[in-house]
Amino acid sequence: MAIATEMASAKCQGEIVVYLAVSLLANARTLRTNSDRFERAWRDLRRRDLLFRAIPLSFVPCAVLIIVVLNATYGDVPREFGRWVGGGWIAAFFAAGAYRRRFRCPRCSELFFGRGLSNNSARCAHCQLPAHATVAR
Ligand SMILES: [Zn+2]
Repeated sequence: MAIATEMASAKCQGEIVVYLAVSLLANARTLRTNSDRFERAWRDLRRRDLLFRAIPLSFVPCAVLIIVVLNATYGDVPREFGRWVGGGWIAAFFAAGAYRRRFRCPRCSELFFGRGLSNNSARCAHCQLPAHATVAR
């Protein structure tokens, strides 16, 4: 009788150990999946930030390069050069700003910068998740 009870208990303990191992693996996979999702989202935000900053910084060197190439090719720049190149760069800058502001928080899926004019990227405007946080708290 005692042996049968002990065997049943050992079998039950084995099932518990298997259950715990499976649930631990499932939790680890969920954590890794969430971590991967956050990592991908922050990489996307960094890419959007880089684009937003690169466009205004690239204006002067690129405009000079275009002027040099046009001068070498045609001997002069077109009359509307400033309007088209400057306007194009400003349009690209606003498009990059709008693209950056469309970034969604990896935790709450709302717009990270909110709907106001704030460009603060330290915390989510909705759930206060710090930027570049590795795990949702
Ligand atoms: Zn959020």
